Amino acid sequence: MPPEQPFWKTKPLEAMTRKEWESLCDGCGRCCLHKLRDEDTNELAFTNVACRLLTIQTCRCADYPNRQKWVPDCVKLTPKQLRRIDWLPPTCAYRLVAEGKDLAWWHPLVSGDPETVHQAGVSVRGKAVRERDAGHFEDHIVRWPGQTPRGKRAQPPAKPEDGDDET
Ligand code: SF4
Ligand code: SF4
Repeated sequence: MPPEQPFWKTKPLEAMTRKEWESLCDGCGRCCLHKLRDEDTNELAFTNVACRLLTIQTCRCADYPNRQKWVPDCVKLTPKQLRRIDWLPPTCAYRLVAEGKDLAWWHPLVSGDPETVHQAGVSVRGKAVRERDAGHFEDHIVRWPGQTPRGKRAQPPAKPEDGDDET
């Protein structure tokens, strides 16, 4: 019998339970970086400035259940919102699943380890600056939140060859 497929490959986003939906978030924190929009061209630029509620070491929201009380323009992601917004990073699991793509090796649902999103260089850990330290956001425009990390760090760890553990 073929192995059972994980829920993100079989269920449409609209049919996921709340637990499944929440577990899709890889904890990267990229969507919690401030973005700048050119009023004339509508062009979007990412910055490396974190929302004031983001704990930049853990890449987690400091008060997720009440976040909209502190940050009223924090967007609550829903399947409907996904179709409207254009600023989710290409690594975002919601965007990947909405585009019919699979999750990468470093996603905690695949790796079983919440640290792999950081180890692969996908998260904002070590790259984001705090809002109160940033000064002008225009001085913090960066491209990496809109890109998929490449290079050795972003590759899955090599599996031990058969017999590697023999003495
Ligand atoms: S970009 Fe997507 S996967 Fe990453 S923290 Fe935001 S919602 Fe979660
Ligand atoms: S309020 Fe929380 S979830 Fe919303 S952008 Fe800020 S850190 Fe992210």
